[in-house]
Amino acid sequence: MTFKTKDIIIAFDGHSSCGKSTVAKAVAKELGYTYVDSGAMYRMITLMAMREGLINGDNINTAKLKARLKDISVSFKKNNSGGQDSFLDDENVESQIRSIEVSDKVSYISELDFVRTKLVELQQEMGRQKRIVMDGRDIGTVVFPNAELKIFMTASAKVRAQRRYDELIKKGHMVSFEEVLENIEKRDFIDQNREISPLKKAKDAIVLDNSNLSREEQLEWVLDILRKKFSNE
Ligand code: C5P
Repeated sequence: MTFKTKDIIIAFDGHSSCGKSTVAKAVAKELGYTYVDSGAMYRMITLMAMREGLINGDNINTAKLKARLKDISVSFKKNNSGGQDSFLDDENVESQIRSIEVSDKVSYISELDFVRTKLVELQQEMGRQKRIVMDGRDIGTVVFPNAELKIFMTASAKVRAQRRYDELIKKGHMVSFEEVLENIEKRDFIDQNREISPLKKAKDAIVLDNSNLSREEQLEWVLDILRKKFSNE
């Protein structure tokens, strides 16, 4: 850790695949804070719904899904490579929730009010002690409207699709660039236009367009704000 901050909450929101999690994780590591990937939580619910046949196209069996949500657990555990894995009940589903099939359905699940209510509650509980960096779509607007630092990230759809494509190929997923770009544009549209908690910049969020910034430059950009606004030293 290069410097200490007051105990705060840092919210990262923004478009799909704009690298929120990469910067958010790096910031959390730098500060010794907990990092929470709220998108993974929506992805886990989506995976469960797909496995149990509760999604047909964009049609969802909401009654069954609602009932299932009562006894399902979504959580994170540290892994051996310094990161964290997503757990659906006791199963490590980290790789499966990143598949293009789950990406294709997740925005339909995250539109549902009862899904959001359940996950927002869990997320707020995780931030009760502050010292948390969370990324998603509604973190600065709904989950932590009083977060001390809000960053809204974006980059062009093509840049984002290329990054996501490279990442998926590296992890062994069989996808085409066009498929990834189409998925990103579709999710942007649904996420920004849904009725409940649509993706939008909180009034007090600072915009970070990282189309032309390296990972190191993005981290430095955030750390600079933290040093100026929240440093304890
Ligand atoms: O961040 P990620 O791309 O993994 O998120 C997957 C999907 O989960 C998003 O496209 C969005 O539909 C949903 N999501 C959300 N609210 C959040 C985080 C993710 O609706 N806070």
